[in-house]
Amino acid sequence: MNQNPKYKEYDVCIVGAGIAGIFLAWLLGSKGKKVLILEKNAKINMNGADILKPSGINVLEKHGLLQELMNKECRVRDELRVFHNGIQVDHINYKAENERGYFMVCPYNVLLETIYDKIQAIENVELLVNQSVSKIKEVESGVFVTLNSGEEIFCNILIGADGTKSIVREYADIEAHFDYYDHVMYFNKYPVTASVEELNRLYVDEKGGLAYFYPINNRESRCVLGFSMEEGKSLRESGNRDVLINRLKEFVTESDDMVDQITSMDDFLTFPLCKMHTEKYFNGRILLLGNAAHSIHPITGQGMNLAIEDVGELIIWLSKYFEAEISLEEALSGYQKQRLELNNKVLNYGHRLANSFGSAENFMNSLNSKIQTSSRDLSILNKI
Ligand SMILES: Cc1cc2nc3c(=O)[nH]c(=O)nc-3n(C[C@H](O)[C@H](O)[C@H](O)COP(=O)(O)OP(=O)(O)OC[C@H]3O[C@@H](n4cnc5c(N)ncnc54)[C@H](O)[C@@H]3O)c2cc1C
Repeated sequence: MNQNPKYKEYDVCIVGAGIAGIFLAWLLGSKGKKVLILEKNAKINMNGADILKPSGINVLEKHGLLQELMNKECRVRDELRVFHNGIQVDHINYKAENERGYFMVCPYNVLLETIYDKIQAIENVELLVNQSVSKIKEVESGVFVTLNSGEEIFCNILIGADGTKSIVREYADIEAHFDYYDHVMYFNKYPVTASVEELNRLYVDEKGGLAYFYPINNRESRCVLGFSMEEGKSLRESGNRDVLINRLKEFVTESDDMVDQITSMDDFLTFPLCKMHTEKYFNGRILLLGNAAHSIHPITGQGMNLAIEDVGELIIWLSKYFEAEISLEEALSGYQKQRLELNNKVLNYGHRLANSFGSAENFMNSLNSKIQTSSRDLSILNKI
């Protein structure tokens, strides 16, 4: 197909080197496909999710990554205690709720580095950092992509794995629907304490407070805090530790050892929360993957899992296409059929749960232990 030696050709160009982009690049590269990944930052982002639920673990296991992650710092857990206004309202036991019987906490950097190391050993996968897309032109046989550097490449398929603010989504003319939350979450790490070691605890309260504590390896634990926008801003700006700790102790009732470690909110990472969905995942030869196609409230702990599941499904359809069993249109529609409705149902579950803190009854009616443990059973998801 190369009639013009001025540009390089790839089977797939992936924009975004997050978990979705890196994982897909590895799977395609292992099948001998020529892949280009464009990452706008100078380095791969190593901050992100650390909860792997059964739905994501199943995909990682299928592709031979599970044992490797188990041998690294990732930890197996099986219980979550849930509190509303300081009172325990649920005790989710993965052994009872999901046939895998456990979830994992695995630092994002460990997961990404594990896959990234594999990519580096594959010659046909190329990663360009500090690079994005400045122009896209789709033609019948593929897509011309002009990089920020001015270089033009040609690919058979273009994948937008460039996160919630996806630029590829705009080029593909796929509309995204955003619902922003009047809620902000803060992420930090502290040494593991006895209460964190015992089991994961998730606290919410009727004023929009949230605290979630769990170990991410044998030394460190994740401390996630959440407040309404206004309260979060004022707690952060006041810099008064006593005010913050007293506020947390209104609803955090079994984790004093963790709360006592918090000195200020200055060094917490934060990012705006939203639910985002699209009504389609592809247009012509351009497809959206992971957070470029959908974004879910973190209380579900499933954003990264949905991205991993997307990749697990997409590789099935792209393999059929590359083996000339089906057309590209059939492959991309087949993928969309499997993922779009299901993802939107999980998103709706998260949306309802995130808006339910106002009363214990509402919260309990919205918390579904099967979906929270990542069941993808449509008969359960259809009831949401
Ligand atoms: C602190 C934090 C904690 C989280 N906790 C959880 C959790 O516990 N469980 C869970 O399941 N999910 C969690 N999430 C969400 C989860 O990390 C995301 O859902 C997941 O990373 C999505 O992966 P992705 O590859 O689709 O997108 P992203 O991780 O957003 O990756 C997109 C990549 O594209 C790059 N990019 C963006 N625009 C361009 C461009 N124009 N050109 C080139 N590159 C571009 C970005 O730099 C980035 O590297 C958390 C997120 C954060 C930030």
